[in-house]
Amino acid sequence: MIETSPAAAPQATRQAREPELRAGAGGGQSQAHAQSGQTPIIEVSGLEKTYRTARGALNLFHGLDLQVESGEMVAIVGQSGAGKSTLLHILGALDAPSAGTVNCASTDVARLSAREAAAFRNREIGYVWQFHYLLPEFTALENVAMPLLARGKMRTGVPSNRSSSLGWKVDALQTAANWLREVGLEDRADHRPGELSGGEQQRVALARALVNNPRLLLADEPTGDLDEITAGRVFDLIERLHLSHGLTSILVTHNPDLAARCGRILRLEGGRLAPLATAQQVGFQAGSR
Ligand code: ADP
Repeated sequence: MIETSPAAAPQATRQAREPELRAGAGGGQSQAHAQSGQTPIIEVSGLEKTYRTARGALNLFHGLDLQVESGEMVAIVGQSGAGKSTLLHILGALDAPSAGTVNCASTDVARLSAREAAAFRNREIGYVWQFHYLLPEFTALENVAMPLLARGKMRTGVPSNRSSSLGWKVDALQTAANWLREVGLEDRADHRPGELSGGEQQRVALARALVNNPRLLLADEPTGDLDEITAGRVFDLIERLHLSHGLTSILVTHNPDLAARCGRILRLEGGRLAPLATAQQVGFQAGSR
């Protein structure tokens, strides 16, 4: 049986999260939420990650701790190779920790089976990478609808070519159309990725990342492949979606100006995270990749 009417979901989710919405993109939220006694949406403790490589063990994190309150927008900066992408992968259940606890959106992600991890990602995580990874043979609309179709399939076990699946496919495409409108690309619905500019491709990727109404947005250099003006516009969009959908967002970036627009900046160095107080401090990291 189909459980939801996805077409109505974006607005419904916004209303459900209304208490979490705020005036700024995460500024000062950590303290406010901590004072309210609310459980952090991300709680990482004693994280270790070891990769076995041809040259021996590579220990990336050394008892890394992280707490993120619901509604925060956090920038993570650091040298290339410090482990920023790996940290996002672990938070998003794309990779497993070697030790430590990782609680994300009320889920102990380290304990998930592969199947549970896939369902968790689909439900709770919106992921955006430096490169859009849109499927070139599908239209913008179909690309955005893809996670909804996958989720419907997971829930119902109904293959997508059966007539009984038609209802939720129509809903999925309608929801995807709503999201394309949200990112300002409703008139590009039937364009394939190759027919879109870099900024437009990233906007489609954002719509796809958020189409399932996840609580968390994890973005790995989301503007890293764009020119300065387009990067600023895509960041404006991320900021707007973060606020209007009550998201908790973690952005890996090398752009000090964009990092400075986040509520908190953390630097990953020596296997741990440390807060940076000012945008000038982030500037030292610029161009390191
Ligand atoms: P960053 O995002 O900060 O540039 P990454 O998280 O991508 O860093 O990588 C951190 C280090 O871990 C790098 O030295 C990289 O080569 C290594 N690494 C990442 N993934 C793997 C893997 N699957 N196997 C072995 N080493 C890896």
